[in-house]
Amino acid sequence: GNFVPPVKMGGTGGGSAARGGGGGGVAAMHSSGEDNAIQRCLEQLAGPDGELPDRLRNLEPKLLEQIMNEIMDHNPNVKWDDIAGLEHAKKCVTEMVIWPLQRPDIFQGCRSPGKGLLLFGPPGTGKTMIGKAIAGEANATFFSISASSLTSKWIGEGEKLVRALFGVASCKQPAVIFIDEIDSLLSQRKSDGEHESSRRMKTQFLVEMEGCGNGKDERILVIGATNRPQELDEAARRRMSKRLYIPLPSPGARAWIVRNLLQKDGLFTLSETEMDTICIQTEGYSGSDVTNLVKEASMGPLREAMMSGIDITKITKDEFRPISLQDFQRALQQVRASVSASELGLYEDWNRQFGSLA
Ligand code: ADP
Repeated sequence: GNFVPPVKMGGTGGGSAARGGGGGGVAAMHSSGEDNAIQRCLEQLAGPDGELPDRLRNLEPKLLEQIMNEIMDHNPNVKWDDIAGLEHAKKCVTEMVIWPLQRPDIFQGCRSPGKGLLLFGPPGTGKTMIGKAIAGEANATFFSISASSLTSKWIGEGEKLVRALFGVASCKQPAVIFIDEIDSLLSQRKSDGEHESSRRMKTQFLVEMEGCGNGKDERILVIGATNRPQELDEAARRRMSKRLYIPLPSPGARAWIVRNLLQKDGLFTLSETEMDTICIQTEGYSGSDVTNLVKEASMGPLREAMMSGIDITKITKDEFRPISLQDFQRALQQVRASVSASELGLYEDWNRQFGSLA
């Protein structure tokens, strides 16, 4: 009863042509909900002739579907203007990777860009945001995966997944492949327990990266992000030829984050002097720490209202008092800087030694 005839489902172009049989066509041979999802993905990946591109033909359809639905981000939705500070990094990224993605014909020969971009620095400083913004600016498809999930969730399948990931990316060019925690994929530690399968995955990844951009019009950029650049070995550094330090936000960038988040919700009423105080007191905070601080401070008026017995279900938004400096000062007790000064020293050392802009 589950049989579905091998014809294209819901496709365009009158689509009743049977494509069963050999040749790797994407004929519908599946029936359950999951199989329908797989079928839809295969149809999206098929070329104008209805066939899967060569490099996808021998890959498991289920894996291709997982990449399309779990790793491909259909709406990264981050703009340069959403990212506070980091002006220099933005400028370099535009020249080093966005233009080459947009105009591969110009960036050839001695202008050919490096294959990989490494963003390193403390956690919560906007590395993922930059990855998404690059994809947005270059109109590229964004694939995002954390390397630790490659070694845990996809255990044993990592090598196949890597091959499929680069295969799908090549069908969806221009493409940005963002690998968070890339150190755990390309770690220099050769622990005795290193699984044969994760070693194979690492090799496969390096091979795919090597192949990336070799085709004349190949427009795939690999971005690795890491909080532990020291763990990358020489081979990995070589592949990641552009290495940008993404530091903690400057005082101006911290102020921008506070102002922007509050203004978005129409809650910004702090004076310049109060903002200056917040800037000084958030020295050492990452962008994500500052974001958490604003969230915590914004709860101040609500908590106060509840403490004074006001029924929170009945009160209108305008009846809450504005968010004050005191709310921030109470929040500063709850939300601390997550990066220590000694950790910062390590990033700065590594930047001096291996960074592209040091
Ligand atoms: P990373 O990848 O460096 O660990 P993310 O890019 O995931 O950090 O940032 C985490 C969150 O912190 C973001 O979603 C954003 O809310 C906030 N954030 C961090 N850095 C910035 C920044 N430079 N500008 C604006 N928001 C930031």
